[in-house]
Amino acid sequence: MAHEHAAMLAVRKPWGSTDLAPWSGIAADGAAIGEIWFQRRAAGAPAPALLLKLLFTTQALSIQVHPDDAFAHSIGLANGKTEAWYILSAEPGAEVAIGLKRQLTAPELRSAIADGSIAELVQWHPVRKDEVVFVPAGTIHAIGPGLVIAEIQQSSDATFRLFDYGRQRELHIDNAVAVADAGPAERQVAAKRLTNARALLVASPYFVLERIELPAQSHWELHAEHETWLLVIAGDARVGQMNAFVGEAIYLDAEHAAIRAGRGGLTALVAYRATEPSHSLLHQRDGQELHSPLPHSSRQPDPQTATAGSRPRSTEARP
Ligand SMILES: [Zn+2]
Repeated sequence: MAHEHAAMLAVRKPWGSTDLAPWSGIAADGAAIGEIWFQRRAAGAPAPALLLKLLFTTQALSIQVHPDDAFAHSIGLANGKTEAWYILSAEPGAEVAIGLKRQLTAPELRSAIADGSIAELVQWHPVRKDEVVFVPAGTIHAIGPGLVIAEIQQSSDATFRLFDYGRQRELHIDNAVAVADAGPAERQVAAKRLTNARALLVASPYFVLERIELPAQSHWELHAEHETWLLVIAGDARVGQMNAFVGEAIYLDAEHAAIRAGRGGLTALVAYRATEPSHSLLHQRDGQELHSPLPHSSRQPDPQTATAGSRPRSTEARP
């Protein structure tokens, strides 16, 4: 059982930003911050299998590719990396690159990395706030300047760089050629509304990503059966005994948590370890039941007894 306000680790990057508002209050001290990693706070807690980050870009990131689990295992790594991006903000014209404009053979890909022409071959797409991009392992990708992105990924260091815009960091040609799907990316799957409050953004073999939108001061219960990250992207809420504001994340595992949406409502990303959306993820505790397509399980507290004091008073959310 776990239920924690995530700690935040700021990571300097040459392509990062000194302006993290309104997503983070971390003082950049003039240094460019590229990433904020959300981490478990409890000492000795096992590392989550999913890593949640914020990315802040003022320059393009390297063109890169990640291996799948099988290739990662073959080089002694614990797992590969499939990731998904949620665009939190985008300057006009901001773009991401996903896949290539045309199919290349392995020798063509190798020479395109070696001579730098790969930079002309990646397929850029403009993106806007609230768009979602799924990046399965093996997809050649890059992120352009002017973006703030929430990224959920298999926790892994396995990144193979194909091009670095003159920044002189190491390229990984052999591994990149070995793992890349050197052609156009598959079409992105459109978001799917699950209930009034839930939209499914990504269902992958490694994680499910949803966006939840809860009306002002409504009262809910979140059932986190497995490792679950909740990131506030608009409004605020009280989650269990913790307040959560924009840019803050809560980590839950094998836990039921009461959520009281704030005066402006709550919009949050919820990412969890599963391959399909969980029917029992979210139940409304006041008003009519809008959200559960399945009957309540026996563990679901009756709303009247729950508010009448069967739970410690401190878990009751307050506006
Ligand atoms: Zn990546």
